[in-house]
Amino acid sequence: MKNLKDDLINMALAMGAIRAGVADLAALQGPPSADPAYLLPGARSVVAFALPLGRDWIPDYFSKKTRRVFADVMYDTYQSIGAIGGRLKDMLESAGFPAAAPQPNGVYRREASKPGGFMVPDFSLRYAALASGVGTLGWSGNVMVEGHWSAVFLGAVLTEADLPPDAPLESNLCDGCRICSRVCPLGFVQAKASDSVTLGGREYVCNAKGNHMRCGLVCAGLVGLSRDRAWSTWATLRYRVGEDDRALGLAFNRALSDPASEYIRGHIFSDNLRHGVLARGREETQPTCCNCALVCSGPREHRQALMERLHASGIVVRREDGTELAVRPEHLDPLITFDTENEGG
Ligand code: SF4
Ligand code: SF4
Repeated sequence: MKNLKDDLINMALAMGAIRAGVADLAALQGPPSADPAYLLPGARSVVAFALPLGRDWIPDYFSKKTRRVFADVMYDTYQSIGAIGGRLKDMLESAGFPAAAPQPNGVYRREASKPGGFMVPDFSLRYAALASGVGTLGWSGNVMVEGHWSAVFLGAVLTEADLPPDAPLESNLCDGCRICSRVCPLGFVQAKASDSVTLGGREYVCNAKGNHMRCGLVCAGLVGLSRDRAWSTWATLRYRVGEDDRALGLAFNRALSDPASEYIRGHIFSDNLRHGVLARGREETQPTCCNCALVCSGPREHRQALMERLHASGIVVRREDGTELAVRPEHLDPLITFDTENEGG
């Protein structure tokens, strides 16, 4: 098994992973999405790995110069994760061990996910990365990998092989700057309230997180206006979303029927999206945020500079011809097109 494990790890590294490790079932004892048996009933261990997103392009993405640069990085990285997963799965099956490679993003358990609320993945790549020593948990809730902070995407392969496990990391790569909470437009990543998760008998602490649809509204490409109404993500609806779940529900329902979101609705509900990110074409890859992970891509002064760039970047509007433009908030009339505070219900 040691030789097989070494071959798998070396293959992942040769195909572009920056770090790879193995978790056994004991290290994955925890929340339901840490259980590999959901996807592979006889699973005995998990090979987890991380790929770098790079960071030279992030200033252009944050300053609203272009979002295409991140779309290409996102598409290429997901496809690389799919290729590594497929290769490791083949190696395990050739050695006689059933294996499964989960989608790197975009697939959720229907029976466990609540409409408009918490979305549970088939298998949590974050928990796999923590349990296998690939990375540590940042305050943002993203996994951080040494030398790359949280500018990484994760992958994994589940197998019935009893591979020798690696130990979770003892170090803490997060310095607690809380900059991740200051680039999250609707306040999903919180600055003060904390929460914890126990995995393999270890407690991991991160921010308490708001209702998951607070991130979903943004990452679906709908609402992008920050709570101080000074900047936006690449999502173009300019809503003021109140603090409670009622306001969130109002905003979500309104966003899905707003004529201004028509261009993105076909994208949100396309069949390819339901089948996960590996089924998406390059042109269907349309990131609007990921700010919490991307801002954490270097030392504190780097994060601070990225945050300031984002906060000065303006608010994205979409012209009739489909092109996007960042505009100063004082030049937008009306600045807010829907305010949950002014709605009954
Ligand atoms: S931005 Fe700061 S607080 Fe947030 S995860 Fe990174 S290091 Fe931790
Ligand atoms: S992806 Fe954007 S909206 Fe979602 S948690 Fe991160 S910063 Fe917040």
